[in-house]
Amino acid sequence: MAFTLNRRSFLQAATAAALAVPLAKVVSAETGVVKTPIDPKGTFEDKTVTGGICEMCFWRCQLVGKLRDDRLVKLEGNPKSIDNGRSICARGNAGIKYLYDPDRLKYPLKNVGKRGAPVWKRISWDEALNECGTRLKGVVDKYGPHGISVFPHGSSAKYPMHFFERTVGTHNVSEASFFQCRGVRDTAYLATIGKAPGEFVDMPNAKAIMLLGGHMGENVHVSHIKQYIQGLQNGAKLIVVDPRYSASAAKSDIWVQIKPGTDTAFLLAVMNYLVKNKKYNAEFVDEYGDGFDEFAEAIESWTPEKAAAECDIPAAQIKEVAELLAANAPHVAIHPGRHVSWYGNDFQRQRSLACLTGLLGAYYTVGGWVPAKNPKVGGTSWKKKEANHEFNLNMDKEEEPIYPFSPPGTPTELIRDAALTGKPYAIKGCVIWGQNPIQTIPGQEKMKKVLEQMDFVMCVDVMPTDATMWADILLPEVSYLERYDLIKTGTQWDFSKEQQQYIAARMPLVEPMFERKDQVFITNAIAKIMGYEKDIPVKSIEELVEKDLAVAKLSLAQLRKEDGIHLMPGKDPYQMPEDFEVIFFNEDLEDYGFPGAPTYIPVEQPPKGYARLLYGRVPVHTFNRTQNNVWLHFAMPQNPVWINDEVAQKIGLSDGDTVELVNSEGFKSKTTTVVKVTPGIRKDSVYMAHGYGSMNPLMSVGVKAGIDDQSLITKISVDPETGAHGMRNNFVKLIKDGKVLDIPA
Ligand code: SF4
Repeated sequence: MAFTLNRRSFLQAATAAALAVPLAKVVSAETGVVKTPIDPKGTFEDKTVTGGICEMCFWRCQLVGKLRDDRLVKLEGNPKSIDNGRSICARGNAGIKYLYDPDRLKYPLKNVGKRGAPVWKRISWDEALNECGTRLKGVVDKYGPHGISVFPHGSSAKYPMHFFERTVGTHNVSEASFFQCRGVRDTAYLATIGKAPGEFVDMPNAKAIMLLGGHMGENVHVSHIKQYIQGLQNGAKLIVVDPRYSASAAKSDIWVQIKPGTDTAFLLAVMNYLVKNKKYNAEFVDEYGDGFDEFAEAIESWTPEKAAAECDIPAAQIKEVAELLAANAPHVAIHPGRHVSWYGNDFQRQRSLACLTGLLGAYYTVGGWVPAKNPKVGGTSWKKKEANHEFNLNMDKEEEPIYPFSPPGTPTELIRDAALTGKPYAIKGCVIWGQNPIQTIPGQEKMKKVLEQMDFVMCVDVMPTDATMWADILLPEVSYLERYDLIKTGTQWDFSKEQQQYIAARMPLVEPMFERKDQVFITNAIAKIMGYEKDIPVKSIEELVEKDLAVAKLSLAQLRKEDGIHLMPGKDPYQMPEDFEVIFFNEDLEDYGFPGAPTYIPVEQPPKGYARLLYGRVPVHTFNRTQNNVWLHFAMPQNPVWINDEVAQKIGLSDGDTVELVNSEGFKSKTTTVVKVTPGIRKDSVYMAHGYGSMNPLMSVGVKAGIDDQSLITKISVDPETGAHGMRNNFVKLIKDGKVLDIPA
């Protein structure tokens, strides 16, 4: 098998490797070998620096860095943190290998070859910025501001995103974190409780936890996992709805091995059972519910038996789930999920989760859904100019929204279609900042065509990715360990403890190396060349952070004195806002032509001989951003494809066999992976971890490791309410030794 290391042994190995860094030959990013002689009897580190904030994923745990001879040799959780505490995850530990990765981008580069098959030439910052500014201005002059598209990701992309969106004035900004991830969740909850849900459900104090899209243990965020484990240790019952025997399914009291795409039918039947049997929280619904009668009528056909046939699960299990939830209500933590862009019917599923929480009376209550109440800081950025709806692709000719419940920005598919057709207008400039649209957005070949037709593409990133291969100019950014950055605020996550809030600002743990620059430097320089000098809000990232901290009467100097984290008394987490309501039947939705109550929309089933391709996360990697990290690669070098054991036996596959994948539209994987034979996956599906199979040769470790799931997601479905992508409607066969294997029905 490809990986045999468990988490504990990996962390031990990772820590041992970190400890070994100063004592062994260390490959330097610049020269190859660190020459400093090190006394093995000496102390391990000579300096501890506080104020770090991790960004190996977006959770942003608070760090301290241990340095020796000004090199970072170990990362730890900041003991003052009330969020992650001293703990960081495997990826957090491996941040050192990200910082010192010899493959990191070091200098501005110009592509003197072709997009997609680049030949890189090192150029000066002056030349690079001048080319970016001049060519983007050229696009604006010729096509208007809306001729620019922006694909941002991460905290460093906010400042440039605001520049292009608010000041230059393009609507065509598409964040993967919304349109390929959680946007559909946020807007579905907005349509139900008037608020995006976040993820801090009160698991530590819950009597029951239900996960349907919250993959605890595979999707690892330190404080979140602490909440979950504390809840289980406190005796919470766990319901997991997943086609796959996931890390959380393995800990569950009830595992609902649901047929992919049918989750809403399951939820409607659970809710209908609660209503019909008067097991919902009538008092809560009477006080806070809106449109309950219409809702109850709309879902009344969903008997457990009807849903059982649709979901391919026993009717008795649906009743068992409903009974368990009712017995423990209102102390029930129904997780809103994270990456929920699955089938293109996702808004309805997320609405169902929000309504189920309401039926159980589990909002603003011990063990239920409780929002984090964070302290206020400033939000310094570019000023917003007047919105021009004429060029908003999400508005039709009558100025009605095409996707009325879209998350902020413009749905990716609208941008891509406009770019490819030139209608209603041309999109000829592209800024990719920290995002990898080649391996994040479905329809990889379509994305390549979009980039091919641009007049100019610029990328800013820390590492080479498959997207950076499409840049004309590629700019190296400082990493999260070398820069100041946006402020992180948060709340004590265990609501049974005395409540505290915190403010932390990311501060560099080491000096930037080579010629890497931060977001404010790069954006301001481009803004000047494009003619927006008078609009520049701050001269440096430090100034931006200082301005935002000043709103909370803090400063960087003060934060440094406080070990990087300012603590203050918190608020009552359970206090409900006066105007809180749960909209069971939403008339706005109906006005736009959508069902007012949550509704099940069936999805396409696998054609004969194919299995549905499911994908997900693993605890040792973040999207496709960490596969080149040598420690994390060591932990999980490729993404085995899970296949049901009975199916594997019938088609002659064994654990560890090397395979390729081909999808029902004829797209074949460019690389190979190994098979994981397991009873823990349905017969109609296969599963693999997301983010592998990069084709960028500048990644010496991660290149061609495993299969790129995104290259097989060619059938594009779009959620009708939000415009977000559904990405699990693709079907594959496996290929072994050149022979295509039909998946038996
Ligand atoms: S969960 Fe892990 S990777 Fe994410 S911020 Fe925390 S330590 Fe870093």
